[in-house]
Amino acid sequence: MKFLNAELDVKNLYIKQDAATGLIAIIAIHNTTNGPALGGCRFVNYASVDDAINDVIRLARAMTYKSAMAGLPLGGGKSVIISHPGITDKQKIFEQFGELVDSLNGEYITASDSGTSETEMKIVATRTKHVTSINKSSESLDDTAYMTSVGLVRAMEAAVAYRLNKDSLSGVRVAIQGAGNVGYLVAKMLLDKGAEVVITDKNTELLNMRANELAISAAHPETFAETECDIFAPCALGGVMNSATIAKLKAPIVCGAANNQLQDQMAGEQLYENNILYIPDYVANAGGVICAAAQAGTISKDESWNKMLNIYDSVTNVVSLSQEMKKPTNFVANYLAEQRF
Ligand code: NAD
Repeated sequence: MKFLNAELDVKNLYIKQDAATGLIAIIAIHNTTNGPALGGCRFVNYASVDDAINDVIRLARAMTYKSAMAGLPLGGGKSVIISHPGITDKQKIFEQFGELVDSLNGEYITASDSGTSETEMKIVATRTKHVTSINKSSESLDDTAYMTSVGLVRAMEAAVAYRLNKDSLSGVRVAIQGAGNVGYLVAKMLLDKGAEVVITDKNTELLNMRANELAISAAHPETFAETECDIFAPCALGGVMNSATIAKLKAPIVCGAANNQLQDQMAGEQLYENNILYIPDYVANAGGVICAAAQAGTISKDESWNKMLNIYDSVTNVVSLSQEMKKPTNFVANYLAEQRF
């Protein structure tokens, strides 16, 4: 097995395989200094088990940084179940995964992620209590997408205050990449604040439906990075900040919800050198994990709301220190988070 950058950067790695059901589940625990490792479960296809292991380790590490930065009593972990055609009984797969989570006695708390939703987490909950993302009502403190969106808007407010010297988002033009759960909610919230919104999605039907509903402009996904705007908001997929897209960006600010927006740490350097203010993804999108922390009972709902509002101060800290240290914001955020675990 070949490990990539993630080599050895994990506290515990658990793998469960069952040839009868086709289960291949991997749980990575990166750090538990501040509390149990909370992180979502992905149910996606991988080219190899090695790829899945490298991915889950990288994602678990990111959760440690995210929770530490948000001041949560949580560590970092993540899990993947490899999706493949040999799986015929999905119910059974998620029951087995729940048993694996339960066998860790609370070291890991799972949640929904790419390829999983409340439906799968309800199956997991039949085998373990160490699960969140169930019984959530939409657009409430129990809804991770809602909390992520409100937190992201807070991050945008802090970013424009710092970079554009504006005390509100009124009149600010935001280009949102992704019209999914978060992209849609953020668009709605921004419109309420008087911002101008342009949106894209590779799913044309969804894009047109949401753009029509909100009466905003829909743009083509291929050329979206070139959109004239004040804030470019990646709310779709990771790796979107790479040398090709950064060279095309016209926005002075990048602030979005997508995880792992930087293709690599050099992309953060490039944004910094190009004088584009990058708000580190895990600082801006912490509303989701804050919500999950409350669902897991590690903080109260009141605390979750306050911590979500506090994203404004976290962003302000990172960007101020970046200016002081003359270092890119991704570097500074990692530095600050590492003081906390
Ligand atoms: P989602 O799946 O509902 O929406 C993502 C959208 O992006 C989809 O509509 C998809 O068609 C679109 N998309 C994918 N590739 C694209 C491309 N190349 N160009 C344009 N559009 C593309 O996901 P979501 O819940 O809205 O989350 C959005 C992002 O935020 C994800 O990266 C997710 O990991 C991250 N995030 C979400 C939460 C949460 O609570 N939902 C929390 C933290 C971070």
